[in-house]
Amino acid sequence: MSQKAEKAKAAPLPGCGSCEDSPAKRRGLAARPQRATARTDGEGADAPLGIYAKTAAAPVKGVALVWADTGEETGEVVAYERKGEGFKVHVNSQMARAERYALKAVVNKILPKSRTSKCMRWRVPKQSLQVLKSVEFNKAFYSGLQICASVWDCPICSGKITERRRVELTGAVAVAKGMGWQVMLLTCTVPHGLGDELSPMLDQMMDAWRKTTSNRKGKSVRAAICLEGTVRALEVTDGANGFHPHFHVLLFISSDVTTDTVQEYFRPLWQDACVKAGLPRPSDAHGVRVDDGTYAAAYASKWGIESELTKGHSKKGKHDSMTPWDLLRCYLATKCERSRKRFIIYSEAFKGRRQLYWSNGLKAKLGVGDLTDEELAHQEEERATLLSELTDDQWRAVLHTRSESALLDVAENHPEAFDAFLEGVEGLARASGMPDGPCVAGASGKPVAGPKIGTIEEMTK
Ligand SMILES: [Zn+2]
Repeated sequence: MSQKAEKAKAAPLPGCGSCEDSPAKRRGLAARPQRATARTDGEGADAPLGIYAKTAAAPVKGVALVWADTGEETGEVVAYERKGEGFKVHVNSQMARAERYALKAVVNKILPKSRTSKCMRWRVPKQSLQVLKSVEFNKAFYSGLQICASVWDCPICSGKITERRRVELTGAVAVAKGMGWQVMLLTCTVPHGLGDELSPMLDQMMDAWRKTTSNRKGKSVRAAICLEGTVRALEVTDGANGFHPHFHVLLFISSDVTTDTVQEYFRPLWQDACVKAGLPRPSDAHGVRVDDGTYAAAYASKWGIESELTKGHSKKGKHDSMTPWDLLRCYLATKCERSRKRFIIYSEAFKGRRQLYWSNGLKAKLGVGDLTDEELAHQEEERATLLSELTDDQWRAVLHTRSESALLDVAENHPEAFDAFLEGVEGLARASGMPDGPCVAGASGKPVAGPKIGTIEEMTK
């Protein structure tokens, strides 16, 4: 067995439980030739997404990378670190970015007609495609690509949006504490089973939360505990009992009420609201939990990161709780059909829903700005230098060889080698049979001239 295959075999693999014995896993995820991620010429193929931005990764800490090819399906790379007998997946900001691109390639494949499938691939009409580098953080990013700003479907946009939301949340908690408020973490769940349909269940949960906060009893609870406002995060995991959507709610309280008291107040409120919304009655033990300020601060400071980055890396083997990105990881590693289907169901059910919701007036009380997801995804580094402008052909070669994140790594670590690396990418693309014709919108935003190159399925077969 090759060294690479050995590493991949020793490493913990993402899995949903239904793919334990998949062919890819039995083969130890051997390296595969790289293929194109060509877009389809399907629905809305020449319609720009209308959102353009630069995408920047987190600051680089200069950790050495060990690369191993693990993406049988997409040829993406994941780094491992030797850990005792086996290997632990190595996480740093460059690695996390590589994974985001890898998972994004999975979304391109399984949701080929989505806005997300065009995100960070199509160029902005009449704008040059540039590689820029932040002066402050030494991080490289692309400018001049269309973005989807989907916090649910897009590992790249979601990473950026949730990171900025996390900074907002952490700041808000600190300000609240400075004002002498308490911040508690309320978790609301509902009983669920395999047969439950996700979208109606989400509608009912939203309805139940509205009732919890705005009916007569809810209003009296708010007054009794001096609830100044809430930040509600909608999250979901998938497991043996089906999808498990739940709310994590930061409660900003200006009294000295205890967590036990708050829990006693909210439990019957949530239970009654769920029943009125047509959901099963949550149990006394599991429906509502209130944790104190330590948990709330920890939650605020890692919000988004848990599902974005760390979860799939650190441990697996626990198949009863997969995040949406775990489903993508599972498909990436094993072509798991169940995970593909579950991600599509999840994507359809969450489309258009708010991931994070601040109650009216709270942002103003805490001095937090009011930016939309689109505006956050669009935020750019003010102080950045231009490293390079890419031609259509160069960008096609980068996409074809799936070098988007590797090119940024080179820009950050070895800018002097940037041109040589890009030349190598073009050579690799030619050598691996990059087809002529459109695989990305040209500078006009429309596909560049050339023969049709088929569907994603044909390209990645
Ligand atoms: Zn996106």
